[in-house]
Amino acid sequence: MNWLIKNGNILAENGEFIKRDVRVEGTKIAEIGEDLKANGEKVLDAEGQLVVPGLIDLHVHLREPGGEHKETIQTGTLAAAAGGFTTIAAMPNTRPVPDTVENLTNLNRRIEETAHIRVLPYASITIREAGKELTDFSSLKETGAFAFTDDGVGIQQAGMMYEAMKQAAAIGAAVVAHCEDNSLIYGGSVHDGKFAAEHNIPGIPSICESVHIARDVLIAEAAGCHYHVCHISTEGSVRTVRDAKKAGIRVTAEVTPHHLLLCDEDIPGADTNFKMNPPLRSRKDQQALIDGLLDGTIDFIATDHAPHTAEEKAAGMQTAPFGIVGLETAFPLLYTHLVKKGLITLQQLVDWMTVKPAQAFGLPYGTLEAGATADITVIDLQAEKEIDPETFYSKGKNTPFAGWKCSGWPTATISEGKLVWQEGKVQV
Ligand SMILES: [Zn+2]
Repeated sequence: MNWLIKNGNILAENGEFIKRDVRVEGTKIAEIGEDLKANGEKVLDAEGQLVVPGLIDLHVHLREPGGEHKETIQTGTLAAAAGGFTTIAAMPNTRPVPDTVENLTNLNRRIEETAHIRVLPYASITIREAGKELTDFSSLKETGAFAFTDDGVGIQQAGMMYEAMKQAAAIGAAVVAHCEDNSLIYGGSVHDGKFAAEHNIPGIPSICESVHIARDVLIAEAAGCHYHVCHISTEGSVRTVRDAKKAGIRVTAEVTPHHLLLCDEDIPGADTNFKMNPPLRSRKDQQALIDGLLDGTIDFIATDHAPHTAEEKAAGMQTAPFGIVGLETAFPLLYTHLVKKGLITLQQLVDWMTVKPAQAFGLPYGTLEAGATADITVIDLQAEKEIDPETFYSKGKNTPFAGWKCSGWPTATISEGKLVWQEGKVQV
């Protein structure tokens, strides 16, 4: 099916809206122009709406295999499509872990069979993410591994990280790090700050994250490896990445919507929908993350979509699992609370969710131009709606943003030329 997206607004290079039509032939954008005439295509009317490249999220937990009660590749990718995403990267902390060619091949098959959009699978750095024995990066990359990470846990041994980065550098792959030193967690479930003190809950200090980054940028320099920092959350971490970039080290970093929009003072009480790892930090850290995005220290935004069941999350602040969902609310939240408040521009937000993650990892997606892959998202910037977890396609309803009023909701998502989601109906 070929498409003609009529009358939408695209962002010009100066950040202004220009009215353009987009013609899609097969899996590619054929042309973008004014008053294009339909030539047998199906017309999608985007009058008054924003047309952007399909969004990209390089940090998603799809839970399958092994955690299908929380999410599946099918439900997670439908949630992603509804959130305007056309490319996501799936974290490997599943059971089994994609740590062998066989496990990754099985995962690829499940993706092929059930995913609504493009899914790039991470392979793990170590067998079972146990931190003891490296996986075979070369054969995993040949089997389609997007990059290597033990997300969910930090790599504790510097020597293990060095070997991993040398192996990754040799095959031109990136090491993607969940930065957490186990000797600095102190059994914490929130940030070691105001909320922890007031509620007498053990806190995780900022150095638990930043010392790993400080260690790893030096290792990355020695190994000549692309090192990527997951969900950066502290002022010290941002400073460390900034200094490393200045020194010419090949480091990139991502930040989540929740760390940009919330801090520990916003936690309303013992609500586990505010419990995630890394935790919501201080207001000062939150500001440092926004500053880090604006000055280019932080490269892009990723959700760390981490669904859990209501029963799991009901276990109380200290025992409930870490993590919140994010795919279906990321764009509206950031548009409403950062762009509309004048803290960032719409162009910046779109770039941080499209071309910037693509550039950081050399992916051929994230641009809206003739000849590009037809990954396209249509967004209604006007209509206002309250976030209601019960309407999520994701199995996970664990969000701290329930009830927040937002505008900027996606209305249609085209992935490789196929309409995979449209407001009010599923197309697959
Ligand atoms: Zn993580």
